[in-house]
Amino acid sequence: MLSLEHYRRDFPILHQKVNGFPLVYLDNAATSQKPQVVIDALVNYYQKINSNVHRGAHYLADQATIAFDETRKKVQKFINAQYPEEIIFTKGTTESINLVAFSFGEAFVSPQQEILITEMEHHANIVPWQMLCERKKAILKVVPVLEDGTLDIESFYRFLSPNTSLVAITHVSNVLGTINPIQEIIQVAHAAGAKVLVDGAQSVPHFQVNVQELDADFFVFSGHKIFGPTGVGILYGKKELLELMPPYQGGGAMIKEVTFERTTYNRLPHKFEAGTPNIADVIGLGVALDYVQNIGIENIALQEHALTEYATQQLQQIPSLKIIGNTPNKVSVISFVISGIHHYDLGMLLDANGIAIRTGHHCAQPLMRRFGVEGTARASFAFYNTKEEIHKLCEGVEKAIAVLT
Ligand code: PLP
Repeated sequence: MLSLEHYRRDFPILHQKVNGFPLVYLDNAATSQKPQVVIDALVNYYQKINSNVHRGAHYLADQATIAFDETRKKVQKFINAQYPEEIIFTKGTTESINLVAFSFGEAFVSPQQEILITEMEHHANIVPWQMLCERKKAILKVVPVLEDGTLDIESFYRFLSPNTSLVAITHVSNVLGTINPIQEIIQVAHAAGAKVLVDGAQSVPHFQVNVQELDADFFVFSGHKIFGPTGVGILYGKKELLELMPPYQGGGAMIKEVTFERTTYNRLPHKFEAGTPNIADVIGLGVALDYVQNIGIENIALQEHALTEYATQQLQQIPSLKIIGNTPNKVSVISFVISGIHHYDLGMLLDANGIAIRTGHHCAQPLMRRFGVEGTARASFAFYNTKEEIHKLCEGVEKAIAVLT
């Protein structure tokens, strides 16, 4: 296994005791931890250059604007978008999807048209489409998931029709870890005349994403899952589509001219960025992406793949434990249930040993229903996790089984 363990030093939060034990943080799919350079960037912004962007004619405003605009270019490069103005800053994946559901929905979705999603979506990629379908009298169709956690691709082909307006699909499932065949899905959807939104919340932190190669129409993700701050996310959209879409919110910065009779709108990306943006956290996200690039996303991918394989092998040794999501093509997430033990009780007992995992429905209630469970325990890895931590997880689970059954 490639050793990236020395990078742990960059993450101050990892070096503490919780309930008397060294913290084992295995909840990275919910949010990743932040390296010191990102924390420093936030402090530096407020200590040295705090000012509003794109407005003031003074030194601080210039410095803040330069740093803010730099991040747009960093994101553009990171996902290989063609133009910086195709990168819209939002609060996170959830807001990015809501923006598209509202704005693309207003411009392009008519009654009786279909929106295609899948059974493995996070609520953030279900509810905005339900709301759109209600508003527009459109139809929501759901592609099922197979027993091993892969997408039922044959159903996808069957469900797709000239009536499909948009396919909204996760790149990687936050519960199953499944990596969906996004390139194929986009090609086929385009051939049917549909646009595609890819929820990249769980893919961008784990492997290289190239939006031009994928030919995605929209690609969304959150900064906080890729070692950046909370409160900042990305909507990538193809320029020609974004140009045709109406603004999502009205206010400062998104206008060209305002009169009481009529307002004209600013060019991209500002048309979609009403009001004062989250300047500090945008700058922090830029630093997080630099950090990832310095390590190399391909090295991160290798390390996490090795950790996930190792943890899968180790957990599978525990007789009463069942992993949900068994496709070989998966990322960094292991969901499991243990017969006779409620996932919440397991989470509490692990926490008592300093081990942080996620328990519950993971904002994917329909998927839980699909697998006939109320919730699961979920361990999710980042490159800074270690084999030793996986041993502690397994020991903790075995201890819990001994206590609870
Ligand atoms: N989509 C997926 C696949 C996720 O895993 C998450 C968060 O867990 C989201 C969307 C929502 O992200 P956020 O809460 O950062 O908006």
